Amino acid sequence: MKYIIEGYEPQAFFRHFEELCAIPHGSSDEKAISDFLMRFAEERGLEAYQDEVWNVVIKRPGSKGCESLEPVILQGHLDMVCEKNEGTSHDFTQDGLKLAVEDGWLYAEGTTLGGDDGAAVAMMMALLEDESLICPPLECVFTVQEETGLTGARQINPDWIRGRRMINLDSEAEGVGTVSCAGGMLVRMKRPCRWEESGWTGVQLKLTGLAGGHSGADIHLERGNANKLIGRLLGALADEIPVRLVSLQGGNKDNAIPREASAEAAVPAAHSEEAQNLLRREADAIARELAQSEPGFHLELLSCSPARMMDEEATRDILNLLAVAPNGVLSRNLQAGGFVISSTNLGVISTGEDGIHFTFSPRSSVSSEQEQTKRIFRRLADMTHCEILIEGEYPGWSYAPTSRIREVFCESYRELTGKEPVCEAIHAGLECGLFSEKLPGLDAIAIGPNLRDIHTPQERMELASCTRTLALVRRMLEKLTDTNS
Ligand SMILES: [Zn+2]
Repeated sequence: MKYIIEGYEPQAFFRHFEELCAIPHGSSDEKAISDFLMRFAEERGLEAYQDEVWNVVIKRPGSKGCESLEPVILQGHLDMVCEKNEGTSHDFTQDGLKLAVEDGWLYAEGTTLGGDDGAAVAMMMALLEDESLICPPLECVFTVQEETGLTGARQINPDWIRGRRMINLDSEAEGVGTVSCAGGMLVRMKRPCRWEESGWTGVQLKLTGLAGGHSGADIHLERGNANKLIGRLLGALADEIPVRLVSLQGGNKDNAIPREASAEAAVPAAHSEEAQNLLRREADAIARELAQSEPGFHLELLSCSPARMMDEEATRDILNLLAVAPNGVLSRNLQAGGFVISSTNLGVISTGEDGIHFTFSPRSSVSSEQEQTKRIFRRLADMTHCEILIEGEYPGWSYAPTSRIREVFCESYRELTGKEPVCEAIHAGLECGLFSEKLPGLDAIAIGPNLRDIHTPQERMELASCTRTLALVRRMLEKLTDTNS
């Protein structure tokens, strides 16, 4: 094989990375790379395990004198996101990536690079075979299908893993240690309705111009949720005059904060003008409240003549649900920088023949808070005569007030760089959540080299950052052989 990365140490790491790039390894297509790792282990006489979804665990003994220490887990995922530029004739199931280097950054021509998470795989390979390494016994865990639902981490056999300290290598910013992540689920609710002939006139509401964002990563910004706001407008209307819902829809992704929503409501003809005035007044109040955070907020009102409308009970229940459904940030950790612990997002509303459908995506790093959120939604469904389905649950990873692995990361980073590291919680799912559920008492941190634009064909990995990150992991492992601290 011809290698293109020259002049960076340790060479073994960069060679392994290039070898991995020659083997297709998109999500659900990991058998070849999994077998490659099993051969790697066999050739070096290392204990290794492979399961039916192609997860791999490879172990190495501790260095001399450290054989009986508690093992340390290193972890990353085998699969990569397969994205290519339009006009690129790359076949992700057959072709190796075409690597190139520019200004010290590695990329693949026209496609994703899979530095996420090939960097972790190559690092673990380099550490498994490095005879100069001072370390406790290592348990290297390579998971599959991380990018498509954390399937490998869900499936992995915990009996293969003895360690309770873990360095996850799936982060993408040097100097940042991730110390907590959120679990999540989807709550689907449906309020059935009956349709009645409408002799009333109608008003149509179109709410636009909100900033939106990711329901995990951006929830702390406390932006307006179009679905909640349209509920507020309709509720303000129904406080003053008789109203029946005709249709309601907003948002199109569970995990996005909805930017737009629209509704049609029927009102008695005599109240038609009053209805518009009431809605206008409430919209002006909202616009003033959101002047700083959502300057684009806009409500358009049109007249319409609906042929049918929902029954009175359904209308009342839906307006009640929209008014009291929890939404946005529910709790924060004020002792550790104020990061969000629990949140929820009313992502999608749609109207069908059978009723109105709602999808919420609650998240939490603390499982007991997530249980309480579930209870709130079940009670809400009960009060508003909704059917409810909770699905797609995955666990979070709660912040540990004290953590040896976090201390070791911070000390090692300071010693190597003279700089102060950052520890942060992320409000989205990571494999660490599943591992901390499977391995009770797990002490973990997630780190990684500098990557840019992951999951896009512009993905880049900084070569010198890989060298430094590997040195950091070596320093951390060495410190973990010190049983006196
Ligand atoms: Zn990743």
